[in-house]
Amino acid sequence: MTADPPLVLDIDGTLTRPEGWGIDPRVFDPLREWDAPVVIATGKAFPYPVALCHFVGIPELVVAENGGVVYTGDDVFFTADREAARAVAEAYEAAGYDLGWGREDTVNRWRETEIAVNLEQPLEPLREIAADHGLEVIDTGYAYHVKDTDPTKGEGLETIADHVGIDLADCVAVGDSINDVSTFEAVGRSFAVANADERATAAADEVLEEVHADGTLAVLERVRGT
Ligand SMILES: [Mg+2]
Repeated sequence: MTADPPLVLDIDGTLTRPEGWGIDPRVFDPLREWDAPVVIATGKAFPYPVALCHFVGIPELVVAENGGVVYTGDDVFFTADREAARAVAEAYEAAGYDLGWGREDTVNRWRETEIAVNLEQPLEPLREIAADHGLEVIDTGYAYHVKDTDPTKGEGLETIADHVGIDLADCVAVGDSINDVSTFEAVGRSFAVANADERATAAADEVLEEVHADGTLAVLERVRGT
């Protein structure tokens, strides 16, 4: 008897429409019908992946904010300190820059452990200020994330695996950027979509020919029931 393997899926660049933005609605039914846990592991703020699980109709297994927030379905774990990232944002703004998301900033409004900055904002001063606070800046292709150097998606995934009782060696992961490298290293099989950055491409077991959700859907076809 075969079973679907547990999945670990990034959102931006991975479940997105081939043109790059917005969830591709074709992923909804396969994920809802998937006969194994589906972990959403993203750099987005905590409420976004929770809402995605809610609207797809699957249990909420979430690694958010690049590992800073982990939700096992029963417990929430915070693994990074928001205060340092908040201090970087304040120093960046005090230096005359802007996070770049508008006055009400729904990108950072519910963030609990890191800060995201619009890619159109200057990177070098952000890196310098972050370094002064002992934080790093990573470019996921969708935002600059100012984060603790310690927590990663891969570690968050281990927390979920422990609580849910899944074996990471059985898991299949799909991702597109530097923040998916730790996930790829933690699971049994990893796939980078064709739009993936260099770091994700180098870390993945396999690089797909298809971009964004086309790549993820191709993986689901291949690993279903294996
Ligand atoms: Mg991504």
